[in-house]
Amino acid sequence: MAGPLVGVVGYPVAHSRSPAMHGAAFSALGLPWRYVRLPVTPELFTETVRALPDSGFRGVNVTIPHKLAALELADRADPAARASGAANTLTFSGDGSVDAANTDAPGFLDALEESPRGLRALVLGAGGAGRAVAWALSDAGAAEVSVWNRTPERARALADDLGVRHASRPEAADLVVNATSLGLHGEDVVAELGLASLEPPRVVVDLVYNEQSALLAWGGRVGARTVDGLEILVRQGARSFAIWTGAQPPLEPMRAAARGG
Ligand code: NAP
Repeated sequence: MAGPLVGVVGYPVAHSRSPAMHGAAFSALGLPWRYVRLPVTPELFTETVRALPDSGFRGVNVTIPHKLAALELADRADPAARASGAANTLTFSGDGSVDAANTDAPGFLDALEESPRGLRALVLGAGGAGRAVAWALSDAGAAEVSVWNRTPERARALADDLGVRHASRPEAADLVVNATSLGLHGEDVVAELGLASLEPPRVVVDLVYNEQSALLAWGGRVGARTVDGLEILVRQGARSFAIWTGAQPPLEPMRAAARGG
C-alpha cells in the first residue's frame, strides 16, 4: 500500500522548495511518506482540499494565494493562525475535521535562535508575513514591535489588531526584519527604504529568499548577526513536518535540500 501523502497547495507552486525539503526529511528518517506539488486555482481551493483526505493526504502546506482561505475552511486553528489571520499548514483528522496552524510565526522565532524578549523590533511590511512576524515577536515578549509599511493604512490596521506600534518611517531598532517582497528581484531594500542612515541593528532578518540579499550584506557590514529567508523556510517546514508525522524533523537534510545541495 502507498504511504501517506502531504503536499503544498498554491498557485503557482512550481518554484516551491518544500517538496525537495520534505522529501529529504522523509528519506533521512526512512518514512514512506511523499510530498507533492498541488497547483490549485482559488476557485477550486476549498473543494480540492476537502477531497484530499480521501486520496490519502494527511495534511498540506498552503501558500500564496490561499493562506486566508485555509484558515476559513478549518474547524480549529492554533493561536498563531488566529492572530495572523492566515494558515500555512492544514492537518486532516480521521473524523473529517481540519486543523489549521501557522508555522511561519514559530518558524521565524526558531530561525532567530535567541529570544526577542526585551528587544526593540522593526518589522518592514504589513502583508501576511509581516503580520505573522509582528504577532510572533509581540507574543514572545519583544519590548517594542513597530511596523512600517509602504501603504501606511495597512500598518496602522495591523498595529491596532495586534496591539503593536505603527512607524510612519523605518526607525532604529535592535532587530530589523524585512517582511516586504522587496529584494525578491534584486531590489536594494537598504537604499529603497533609507536604512543606512539608521543606528545599526544587532540582528537583521530577511524573509525574502535571495542568496544575494542587499539587506543581509548591509547587516554584515554594520556588524549585525544575520538570518536569511531560507532558514525561516526550513524552520516553518520543520514545524509542519513535526505536526504531521510526530517525528523530530532532521534539520540538516532539510537545509541542504532547501539550499539546493
Ligand atoms: P504579501 O501579503 O503580498 O505582502 C507584501 C508586502 O510587501 C506588503 O507589505 C507590501 O506593501 C510590501 N511591498 C511590496 N512591494 C513593495 C515595494 N516596492 N516597496 C515596499 N514594500 C513593498 O506577501 P507576504 O506573504 O507577506 O510575503 C512577503 C515576503 O516574505 C515575500 O517575498 C515572501 O516570499 C516572503 N516570505 C518568506 C517566508 C519564509 O519562510 N522565508 C515566509 C513567508 C513569506 P503594500 O501593503 O504597500 O503593498
